[in-house]
Amino acid sequence: MLAKSKAKPSSTRRNTVELLFGDLWEFDPAPELADPKLKESYALFIDGQFAAPRSRKYFDSINPGTEKALASIPMAGKADIDAAFQAADSGYRKYWSKMSGNDRGKYLYRIGRLLQDRSREFAVAESMDGGKPIKESRDFDLPMAAAHFFYYAGWADKLEYALPGANFKPYGPVGQIIPWNFPLLMLAWKIAPALATGNTVVIKPAETTSITALKFAEILQEADLPSGVVNIVSGAGNTGQLIVNHSGANKIAFTGSTEVGKAILRATAGSGKGLTLELGGKAANVVFDDAPIDQAVEGVINGIFFNQGHVCCAGSRLLIQESIAKVFVRKLKHRIASLRVGDPLDKNTDIGAINSREQLQKIERLVEAGVHEGAALFQSSCSLPRRGWYYRPSIFEGVTQSHRIAQEEIFGPVLSILTFRTISEAIEKANNTAYGLSAGVWTDKGSKILKMSAALKAGVVWANTYNKFDPSSPFGGYKESGFGREGGKQGICDYLKVS
Ligand code: NAP
Ligand code: MG
Repeated sequence: MLAKSKAKPSSTRRNTVELLFGDLWEFDPAPELADPKLKESYALFIDGQFAAPRSRKYFDSINPGTEKALASIPMAGKADIDAAFQAADSGYRKYWSKMSGNDRGKYLYRIGRLLQDRSREFAVAESMDGGKPIKESRDFDLPMAAAHFFYYAGWADKLEYALPGANFKPYGPVGQIIPWNFPLLMLAWKIAPALATGNTVVIKPAETTSITALKFAEILQEADLPSGVVNIVSGAGNTGQLIVNHSGANKIAFTGSTEVGKAILRATAGSGKGLTLELGGKAANVVFDDAPIDQAVEGVINGIFFNQGHVCCAGSRLLIQESIAKVFVRKLKHRIASLRVGDPLDKNTDIGAINSREQLQKIERLVEAGVHEGAALFQSSCSLPRRGWYYRPSIFEGVTQSHRIAQEEIFGPVLSILTFRTISEAIEKANNTAYGLSAGVWTDKGSKILKMSAALKAGVVWANTYNKFDPSSPFGGYKESGFGREGGKQGICDYLKVS
């Protein structure tokens, strides 16, 4: 419900948004009430059983929207990782390698259906633990996670059609490490293709977002998945290192920062282990003067502010054709003023909480660098909750290619705007980055879309849309954004050894 108010926004008012003509409107809170069914303390999931960590260590998972501790999470140590790989090996030998593709597919379908059944509960847990708005976890993360299990269930008995005429076999036990920005979805991207192709798994969620991974273990038990086929071990960077270096891991699948990806590449070199790396990005979202402008404004907003900008493929560099730059930026600023920042569990929230204090500080440091280097900062004047980690949607004008904010991944709700005059200048600027994960093109001309898609060195190029995903569509990077593909037929090939 909306009620018009003449009051000025203040830092204590949470549900206020400035709409057209500077009027202020207040929204009634619309909290999501489903029970996330959280436990006070979680256990590791090894060999089909929940077990206290042999390390006896725990850490707190924090709700970034309130800064309060949500649950106690086990910190897996060396003995736990040894046990997890032993279980993955026995699960592979006893059950999974002996099962037909058809039967593996049945388990994947079952997992997908159970995830759908408990979708709202998981969505609330995801928003509480990670800070993302409930409308995103409810309408994007959960449906997409289930969709990955359904999609790869379909492939499990058709692998010979993915690789016609080839000899192939699974790796056996694989180690998987995932980041905090899409905790359950990244888990689904990893586990579904690995199981469909006959591998068994030891997976580590990120330190700040372990809860939905550990809840997912309940689904595996409910699905009656054979023991040891999936083992879920929470912990910190050290736990990740133990997985990477474990002799029982025949392949490592990593999603995270380029810095850690490089360390993993060094650690696995010469070991004979398979490796796929899904790393960072600094995508260009290129808007030509013949683009449908209002649609492009929405696409740019979605491209950078979806999930607080904690998105590897975020359209964090806007390249706008000079002739429309003025009007485009005016419309962008107007739209930013209507974005609602606040409680992740409020159904009206557009931008939730920043995942951790460390990430908030990183965003602040890079924004300071942008100001220091001479770019012009514009921030929404919206009010922020008094507790929790929040950041105003921000844009920088007057950015040049050498600015840190044009080169480094900010991983927050901050857009850097550059301009161009010709198509070749747009291509040159878009490709002037160490990354190569994604890009966007906005234009009325099909020929320009085709030229740009071929010229942009990015794993995914969206045309007149942004952040669109489908399990059948492969996703992955070039250059420092990594190698290997997740999703689609290509996602299957990366979990098979082909001879
Ligand atoms: P991160 O610091 O690299 O961490 C990723 C995962 O690796 C976490 O589980 C982390 O554990 C673990 N880890 C940390 N140090 C490790 C080490 N030395 N050896 C093995 N594992 C280690 O990245 P993040 O900050 O969580 O995630 C953000 C990054 O992920 C961004 O750069 C983003 O672009 C990228 N990302 C890429 C994709 C893609 O598909 N290309 C998708 C999503 C995110 P802790 O949590 O305990 O540190
Ligand atoms: Mg948390």
